[in-house]
Amino acid sequence: MRVLKFGGTSVGSVANINQVIKIVSQEAKNDRICVVVSAVGGVTDMLMQCGLQAAKKEDYNPVFKELETKHLQFVSELVPNDSEAVEETQGLLNDLNSLLNGIYLINELSPKTVDKLLAYGEILSSSIIARAMYAQGLDAARKDSRDLITTNDKHTKAGVNYKVTNSQLDYYFAKAKQQITVLPGFIASSATGETTTLGRGGSDFTAAIVAAALDVDQVEIYTDVSGMYTANPKLVKQAKPIESISYHEAMELSHFGAKVLYPPTIVPVMSKNIPIRIKNTMAPEDAGTLIHNKEGISDNPIKGLSNINNIALLTLEGGGMVGIPGISKRLFETLSNQGINIILITQASSEHSICLGVMEEDAGKAKNAIDEEFQYEISLNKIDPLSLEIGLSIIALVGDQMKSHQGISGKMFSTLGKNNVNIRAIAQGASEKNISAVIAQKDVKKALNSLHERFFEAQRKQLNLFITGVGNVGEKLLNQINQQQEYLKKHLNINLRVLGLSNSRKMLIDENGIDLDNWKALLEAGEPATLDGFHEAVVNQNQRNSIFVDITANADVADMYGKYLKQSVAVVACNKIAASSEFSKYSELKRLSKAYNAPLLFETNVGAGLPIIDTLNNLIASGDRVNRIQAVLSGSLNFVFNNFKSGESFHDVVQAAKAEGYTEPDPRIDLSGVDVARKILILARESGLKINLEDIANEPFLTEKNLNSTDVPHFFETLKEDAAHFEKLVADAEAKNHRLKYVAQLDNGKASVGLQSVPEGHPFYDLKGSDNIVLFFTDRYPEQPMQIKGAGAGGDVTASGLFADIIRTATY
Ligand code: ADP
Ligand code: ASP
Ligand code: MG
Repeated sequence: MRVLKFGGTSVGSVANINQVIKIVSQEAKNDRICVVVSAVGGVTDMLMQCGLQAAKKEDYNPVFKELETKHLQFVSELVPNDSEAVEETQGLLNDLNSLLNGIYLINELSPKTVDKLLAYGEILSSSIIARAMYAQGLDAARKDSRDLITTNDKHTKAGVNYKVTNSQLDYYFAKAKQQITVLPGFIASSATGETTTLGRGGSDFTAAIVAAALDVDQVEIYTDVSGMYTANPKLVKQAKPIESISYHEAMELSHFGAKVLYPPTIVPVMSKNIPIRIKNTMAPEDAGTLIHNKEGISDNPIKGLSNINNIALLTLEGGGMVGIPGISKRLFETLSNQGINIILITQASSEHSICLGVMEEDAGKAKNAIDEEFQYEISLNKIDPLSLEIGLSIIALVGDQMKSHQGISGKMFSTLGKNNVNIRAIAQGASEKNISAVIAQKDVKKALNSLHERFFEAQRKQLNLFITGVGNVGEKLLNQINQQQEYLKKHLNINLRVLGLSNSRKMLIDENGIDLDNWKALLEAGEPATLDGFHEAVVNQNQRNSIFVDITANADVADMYGKYLKQSVAVVACNKIAASSEFSKYSELKRLSKAYNAPLLFETNVGAGLPIIDTLNNLIASGDRVNRIQAVLSGSLNFVFNNFKSGESFHDVVQAAKAEGYTEPDPRIDLSGVDVARKILILARESGLKINLEDIANEPFLTEKNLNSTDVPHFFETLKEDAAHFEKLVADAEAKNHRLKYVAQLDNGKASVGLQSVPEGHPFYDLKGSDNIVLFFTDRYPEQPMQIKGAGAGGDVTASGLFADIIRTATY
């Protein structure tokens, strides 16, 4: 004998029922089969809705009609031309309608009536399915579970009388002749013959009760997913079916919300050591999950994650609680008297407060009862009125083996912390099969995904990018990402996705990742952009490992970093404004980055893609001390002075540099040295100095007239007018066989920028094109400095510098 249970979705359409029949007919070739069926998917909820409407004297007819049409259509398609089937189904529907009418008339829906009402779901489905099997030539007959399963009269969640039930089941199946018996799940009857139900989701339980009574080899629960997963697959895409799991683990997971199995199901089969196999009706060839008495052998002590939503946290607190025995007893008794189920308990060892998790629907009742119970203590101010918080969820890590592994809760909490998930309460069962935390319901998806990544995808990390600024550099970065995505997955186990894009006009968010082959058109069709709107969208996405990437040169964008960091969103910027703003701003951002565990990286602020800041940070982290930095940090100035020879026009060289995109749109920012000063400022700060832009000595090589020019065209005019000044600079240098270089220095805590003429043989002398060079003189590199040299400007290298920062966030 085998017991197979098919859930609501499995019998949710004609095609699915035919699939069920196919599976059953296959299995019935070798053995007698007991098939337990649920109501057609969604029907139990619809019945409840009708009942509630009727009890409120509302019109339940539209929903009832829908139920009627659905079932009659199933009959006409599954058992065509069978008037008896139509008659039976119509008869049941008529009875149902009379019941609803009765509820409507008396204006009341008692638990007893709820059971009568909901039972129609399984009664109808089992009747139609049994007939359909018979019509397709199977030796199938239906039997009403109410004749076989006897319970107490605790309506809506009745307790089974196993003694009576087992003998009834034994007796019936010993005599039954048919190969296939179809039983309605979920329903039973009390000793007095009233219809009862076993609790929502209870068809699983029916199957287990039958299996245990008949002592079968295995129960098979067919559902709409291929087993019990490492987390709810509807919330965590990366979740995987668990191959093998112990009864205790499965019970714990289902208690904490893994709906795939109704928790009491385990009880009857566990005592008889009958395994449960969870399988997928639509993919019966998949192995599914085996639930049995063995603790699985796996390297991972965690078996799965689960969550329960709609939780309320009750906190009883007060100085008067300390040392007084009996407070907890009174608290628990009060809740028990109200029939309120406590899902989680924590008490600090100070005994100053007790925290309880209950379902939100029970919270109001709980608060009234507890405040009343402790009325006297509250009036004396010994205990505060109960505090109540709603909108919460419990998430749990489950695994029998957790007890023998250290550091799991640490990893759990640090992962949640890193992703800005606030933990309201924590509980760990003494058996250590479960660690649970109470968090805001809005954070559940992110929490489950980050924990899943941490515990089940050890190596695979997802990075979620939100990019602002898609000009030249931005476009290059997107191309590089598009090209490298597969490589990163394969070789670095990084899943890099772009979820948000914006320019100054439009913004686009896609939680599944923006198609990078088509981003321009998609962005163009996006919503109007605002900085706050984009920030809000990033926050609403609430994705783990989120990174805000700033590829603008805009001060308002830089002003947003703090807001992102406070949400634990990492910031990667090539925009120099934040890192070179007042020291207080810079250090506040650094503080936020630390406090919220969110990387703040701006490698491309200095030397584009060259690893200058990273090297500096590594030198310092490894205990070296930077004594002097000498650098050529302006690609634009280098380009200008590499091309400016005696006898040529300085004006023309600058104009050419501008035309080729080597300077800022306003070349004065480069030529005045401000840009280089900002860069050495950043290096000075990263080496530990508290300094500001005003502290940097800047001896300009431009003339007063140049510096006082009113706008860019005027500036170019003044370059022509002062041509002699520039000619002299270059001629003097050439006379000594020197070359002009714009140099930034940090020496003994003092920073300066200015034009220098460097002799042949100097490391700067042969610097080509727009290359940058940095020399670090440190304790460990005293004479021969550490040198970093290479292209210091250009879209591609800047984009790859940003790319490197993005990847760096993954290792934080
Ligand atoms: P049935 O109608 O077959 O009884 P249920 O809807 O009761 O099916 O249970 C199956 C559903 O349980 C899945 O579709 C999935 O959404 C949900 N679920 C929640 N947690 C898990 C988990 N850890 N593994 C598998 N499914 C889960
Ligand atoms: N039909 C019932 C419910 O929806 C029982 C079940 O499907 O397991 O709760
Ligand atoms: Mg179910």
